[in-house]
Amino acid sequence: MAIAIRLSQAHIDAMIQHALEDAPIEACGLLATKDGAVVEVRRARNREASPYRFSIDPLETRKHEQAIDDSGAELAGFYHSHTGSPPIPSPTDIRMMGPFFGPPFVHFIIGVADLENPEVRAWYIDGPERIEQEFEVIP
Ligand SMILES: [Zn+2]
Repeated sequence: MAIAIRLSQAHIDAMIQHALEDAPIEACGLLATKDGAVVEVRRARNREASPYRFSIDPLETRKHEQAIDDSGAELAGFYHSHTGSPPIPSPTDIRMMGPFFGPPFVHFIIGVADLENPEVRAWYIDGPERIEQEFEVIP
């Protein structure tokens, strides 16, 4: 596995915090990077409000993209939580994200099925494939 993205523990904690707050509904959001390192975790609304799936209104995604762009960063990926299953892209995730947000977009999944032991994994969704990626935790 190659390192697909770098981020601080604070950014990881922000995603975990969001996942815990919204459980059992799936939480979701966007990641902005500069030079391959995350500079901002932006919360989004899961319009499905479901424990089994998520989607972000395309208009909301566009609004976030614009704000990220305006700040001189770039949209690098997404995160969402799995509240009852392992942090592995589901067939629905692959169907929703594969056509639009393949590599180099990174998809973090925050597994909070066990609220005491959140599990964070990162993926590329390349067409019908899910390919796990490494991420580097930076100071
Ligand atoms: Zn999912």
